[in-house]
Amino acid sequence: MSRFDVIVVGAGHAGIEAAAASARMGLRTLCVTLRKDRVGHLPCNCSIGGPAKGHIAREVDALDGLMGVATDHTLTHIRRVGTGKGPAVQTVRAHVCKTMYPRWMQERFAKTPNLEVREGQVLTVTKDANGVTGVMIVPSDNPFADPVWVEARSVVLTTGTFLNGLCHEGQNKTVAARSGDQAVFGLATFLTEIGVNLRRFKTGTTPRVKKSSINLTNLETQESEPDAGPFSYIHDQSFPLRELLPCWQTHTCTATHDHLRENLHLSAMYSGEIRGVGPRYCPSVEDKVVRFAGKDSHPIFLEQEEWDSESIYVQGFSTSMPAEVQLDALRTIVGLENVEMIRPGYAVEYDMADPMQLDATLQSKLLPGLYLAGQLNGTSGYEEAAGQGVVAGINAALHASDQEPLIFPRDNSFIGVMVDDLVTKGVEDPYRMLTARAEHRLLLRHDNADARLTEVAREVVACSDQRWARWEMKREAIAAGTDFLMGKSVVPLQSERLGELGTTVIKNRLNWFELLRRAEVTFDTLEELDDEKIDFAGPLRGGSAQLDQEVREQIKLRAIYEGYIQIQERQAAQSRKLDDIRIPADLDYDLIRGMSYESIDKLGRMRPMTVGQASRVSGVRPTDMAILIGHIRG
Ligand SMILES: Cc1cc2nc3c(=O)[nH]c(=O)nc-3n(C[C@H](O)[C@H](O)[C@H](O)COP(=O)(O)OP(=O)(O)OC[C@H]3O[C@@H](n4cnc5c(N)ncnc54)[C@H](O)[C@@H]3O)c2cc1C
Repeated sequence: MSRFDVIVVGAGHAGIEAAAASARMGLRTLCVTLRKDRVGHLPCNCSIGGPAKGHIAREVDALDGLMGVATDHTLTHIRRVGTGKGPAVQTVRAHVCKTMYPRWMQERFAKTPNLEVREGQVLTVTKDANGVTGVMIVPSDNPFADPVWVEARSVVLTTGTFLNGLCHEGQNKTVAARSGDQAVFGLATFLTEIGVNLRRFKTGTTPRVKKSSINLTNLETQESEPDAGPFSYIHDQSFPLRELLPCWQTHTCTATHDHLRENLHLSAMYSGEIRGVGPRYCPSVEDKVVRFAGKDSHPIFLEQEEWDSESIYVQGFSTSMPAEVQLDALRTIVGLENVEMIRPGYAVEYDMADPMQLDATLQSKLLPGLYLAGQLNGTSGYEEAAGQGVVAGINAALHASDQEPLIFPRDNSFIGVMVDDLVTKGVEDPYRMLTARAEHRLLLRHDNADARLTEVAREVVACSDQRWARWEMKREAIAAGTDFLMGKSVVPLQSERLGELGTTVIKNRLNWFELLRRAEVTFDTLEELDDEKIDFAGPLRGGSAQLDQEVREQIKLRAIYEGYIQIQERQAAQSRKLDDIRIPADLDYDLIRGMSYESIDKLGRMRPMTVGQASRVSGVRPTDMAILIGHIRG
């Protein structure tokens, strides 16, 4: 077929979610990728989630994306993170099998209605006066072949580290996007021609070492925490599907640092070979030795990459040193004294596109119908890429079907925070999500992503009936459960019983929801108080033990944090007011009387979609917002 509604270029973590979302919405979707056997490939670590990344991955799941479901089906390890802190930062970090995860994605893609996956290289995007019209495709291994034109109303580019990719290991350079994948050039030329500012970014990965060559006896073992999962809301069957694997912790030492420092001139990064800007929050090991010179050691985690292989990912040791320097440095680390390297770490630099040239739906301001998502936009990480993929996929589908775009506000998701940061503030180095980036993070918790986003997905027909039914049941169970607890009360006469159950006496009548505000009071306490089994959404009610557990968790969290949540909801409503004021697309800022020249210049070039977005453009004066609103309202 040579006509589609939406074409997605790339089947990495952004491309997968973009194509799946568009196909879920019933649009004829084509996903073009250089290698079909690398759909869902994990070129770096084997982890999904972790601080803030876990929040995004959970949100992708709540939007009926694939990342969470694939994680549960290919899981090798899972642990809670942030447990010492409040619910706003708590999430999970999972490890997946790097063979099974892409295979699961490939099988899922193969049976997704409305979706065709084609192997090939997109050389360029075609356009006319109204916007994109399609793409030109050649065989992956022959960019000089006669291209085939495929028509579409929307095109989503998710090319990752592929544009002008250049890999570095010491002084060795390889023109490639990553180990085992070719670099591409045509699309970089196309983007430059339409006026996109391309810049060089860099990322890096660690050596892989042989498990059997590691002395694990002296290392701290980190066992999995099976009850930290499942990752996906719709994983109601037994969990985990297989017994989980541990990982191990060790540390670099001064000998490691000395060896790296002595050979710094051989590092591609420090010898000036690499022009690309690297990630501030995910530094290479040589970067850590230089930037944190006062530290004697840095943590190293040894993570099993696959179920059935010896390959160990040395988390915390990303590097672009020559292989022999890497090996010698590794052998200074406890447990790795006799380690054998399967393959060295390396760095890759690539072209990324300035995200400030995109609007809040990730559509290019330079070409209607063209969307960009993932590492191409200057982010780093599977989760960040997947989050953008959903946004771009949904909006590319809405564009192709002449429907209103969907904006994800900052106060409703980390995905909204990320997209707004990218298109409003831009990026100086690879953008990694941090919980501190969200001003309303108590509202954007790992546990309540479905409450915030599943209805959003349902409204644009991007949410399956299975997921919707589960959410509806959960929502009703939370409401009914809260009413039930508010209807039950405890009186001072029962204080002795309360004392026996490990909480303090009461002076006035309390309902059970108020009692639950006490950290030490649990549902077990309440069940014992009245000798009554509480079942909100268990199997007897057509739900599952997992669903009932989630309902309990939600009610307890709301009981404890109700006050704080209400404060943040009021603050969010305040900032939402400005985000609800749309700025006309053709507004002429030069005509706005009383606005500062700096704001006129910045807003005129950046062209924000809402007053809220305008207020976040750096250098724009808050006083100018009142003037802008006055002008819009006329
Ligand atoms: C060496 C390395 C180290 C990394 N280290 C880290 C790290 O430490 N921490 C971290 O968070 N993230 C790291 N990452 C980044 C992480 O892998 C990416 O963030 C993530 O894979 C981005 O997903 P994506 O979908 O944007 O792009 P990718 O996963 O790169 O997928 C790009 C897709 O586009 C396709 N494609 C590209 N050009 C064309 C074309 N012209 N025609 C057809 N198909 C095309 C490719 O075939 C591929 O399917 C690293 C990546 C690499 C390569």
